[in-house]
Amino acid sequence: MATLSAATLRIEQLKSQLTEYNYQYYVLDNPTVPDAEYDRLLLELMEIEKEFPQLLSSDSPSQKVGGKPLLQFAQVEHEVPMLSLDNAFDEESMLAFEKRMQDRLKRSDVISYSCEPKLDGLAVSLLYENGKLVRGATRGDGRVGENITANVRTIRNIPLSLRGDSFPQRVEVRGEVIMTRDGFTKLNNKQAQDGKKVFANPRNAAAGSLRQLDSRITAARPLLFFTYSLGLVEGEQESLAQTHSGRLQQLSDWGLPLSKELDVAQGAVECLEYYKKIAQLRDSLNYDIDGVVFKADNIALQEELGFVARAPRWAIAHKFPAQEEMTLVLDVEFQV
Ligand code: NAD
Repeated sequence: MATLSAATLRIEQLKSQLTEYNYQYYVLDNPTVPDAEYDRLLLELMEIEKEFPQLLSSDSPSQKVGGKPLLQFAQVEHEVPMLSLDNAFDEESMLAFEKRMQDRLKRSDVISYSCEPKLDGLAVSLLYENGKLVRGATRGDGRVGENITANVRTIRNIPLSLRGDSFPQRVEVRGEVIMTRDGFTKLNNKQAQDGKKVFANPRNAAAGSLRQLDSRITAARPLLFFTYSLGLVEGEQESLAQTHSGRLQQLSDWGLPLSKELDVAQGAVECLEYYKKIAQLRDSLNYDIDGVVFKADNIALQEELGFVARAPRWAIAHKFPAQEEMTLVLDVEFQV
């Protein structure tokens, strides 16, 4: 971008376009452009903001998480914000991610990573008090989400009570609600037969199904939950593992479902091998994934690295290239 005035103009265009796409995607569960197009515009915005830091504003889509919660739902304030993830679209950005962390930590030793599939659904927070599920919420804009307790209670693999007795008194479990691919196909066939709206993809179907005012509709939809982290924890912190992968195992011991494809890697090069392995598995899975997530496994390192505006410094989503079918589905869906 050659001049400040050209950059100012382009930033304004991108901000208003992306804000509108965010509204359609997060608030209406009804995207009007493929994700790859959205990602391309966001990347362009971030690059211009990097070149002209004086043009970066706090209302920029590059600084924000998700969308405003729907007012029809009671609101839930997240005591620990639910953030997004930074993205890497190629090997160089993965290596740069590791280098950034090492520079910040002023250390060059190998970092261990928790490696996880990036499930393409909707982020959900589940609050357990004394082992009982008391609240379910969407991520919303990261600080305030929607209370969807009645709806999460209908999801078959979400435990209403935790197993055992080693869990903290108050513990927030975070994860993704997804719709299986075959469940999605069946649902769309049924919707079409009944003359109702068909969904663009399993992610939008999952989001639309979860954000229903009538939980009987949610109960009839093929949704599943997989956990990927802890949020708020009160009481008995000492019994928590000191690695992220160890904490995932604890969540599994308490009865929460984990993705099968989890692993631990030493250094970015092993992470890239994991990326390739999961990319090969991608088509054989019964749910959509749009990449893999790498998180520095050591909790002390995570705490030292901290967060920026919308994402932790210690994690990254290494995205897969956009899938052609998704674009085709969207084209069909939005033909007039
Ligand atoms: P994101 O989906 O790229 O990454 C953050 C999310 O990943 C988390 O909130 C969580 O829900 C999810 N996740 C899945 N597996 C995880 C794991 N193992 N560990 C941690 N998190 C995991 O970020 P985002 O800000 O929610 O959304 C951006 C995505 O939404 C992009 O893919 C973008 O293309 C799409 N989008 C599309 C449109 C559109 O109009 N098509 C608009 C807005 C956003």
